[in-house]
Amino acid sequence: MGDKKTERVEIRVPSASLAVAAASCPNGCDLMAADVPIHGHPSIGIDFSFGDWKGKIHLDPMYGSFDNICDIEIPEGQEVDFRCPKCAVSLRDEKDLCPTCSARMFVLHLPGGGILEGCLRKGCSAHRLRIVDVDAQLLRVFKERVGLPGIDV
Ligand SMILES: [Zn+2]
Ligand SMILES: [Zn+2]
Repeated sequence: MGDKKTERVEIRVPSASLAVAAASCPNGCDLMAADVPIHGHPSIGIDFSFGDWKGKIHLDPMYGSFDNICDIEIPEGQEVDFRCPKCAVSLRDEKDLCPTCSARMFVLHLPGGGILEGCLRKGCSAHRLRIVDVDAQLLRVFKERVGLPGIDV
């Protein structure tokens, strides 16, 4: 098992066909806000800030849909910071920049090792879904090809 290589796989999903059912901060806090539904699904509750402003944003859980609810108006083009409302950890991606506008991106952790990334600039809708820990999923798809006897997934 020692020299296992890690690959990143990106998939494309049609907009608004998928609702995020569970998202957490890097420390594992549940970010879902059942009390603030958007499109009939629990939204993703996050604390945000820019300059001296602090507020609460509820992200649209439908992938590719942006009917977010924000308690203060964020100026168009403003880059904000996202934090976990429970443990205050930054949700900012320290490595990647937005491929569209070069702003910082935020990262939400999904069950099974998935990651949902989005741009932190208001008005930029760049976002992507990544399944980073693909072992279980890939084994299911490529079981024969991988050819690991006795592994039942
Ligand atoms: Zn947290
Ligand atoms: Zn952007």
